[in-house]
Amino acid sequence: MPGLEDLYREIILDHYKNPRNRGQLEVPPAVRADGHNPLCGDEITVYVELDGDRVARVAIDGQGCSISQSSASMMSQAMTGRTTDEARALLHRFKHMMSIADHDHSDEPVEDIPLGDLEALQGVVKFPVRIKCAVLAWNTLAQALDSAAS
Ligand code: ZN
Repeated sequence: MPGLEDLYREIILDHYKNPRNRGQLEVPPAVRADGHNPLCGDEITVYVELDGDRVARVAIDGQGCSISQSSASMMSQAMTGRTTDEARALLHRFKHMMSIADHDHSDEPVEDIPLGDLEALQGVVKFPVRIKCAVLAWNTLAQALDSAAS
């Protein structure tokens, strides 16, 4: 279905060229985490500002390939406004879509959360080397949430 692949490519390029929530947040009140994918050279810094139990703002800094940067942009959009529990459920859902074993949560059911633009990244599964690019921002967000909880 070439039409769908073209659409997915356009969504990924749009997020790469016009990244959402680009920038930095003041720490504190925000928390930050740094992620690095040495296989590709991608670097992502994720800032998360919580309002109680809710993700009030996410900001993304860093550089790397189109997959890593567009995935970070989509992640920031998808996470804003969710509770930390919802954020972790979406993380679980995304990793499942990317065929990544979520070892800490492998026995948890995958909730049927609408993915929106994130579906554009499912084609990446066909290129195992790029999966690490796509998941980098998500793992970095998980680190940020962990540090906020501790
Ligand atoms: Zn990459």
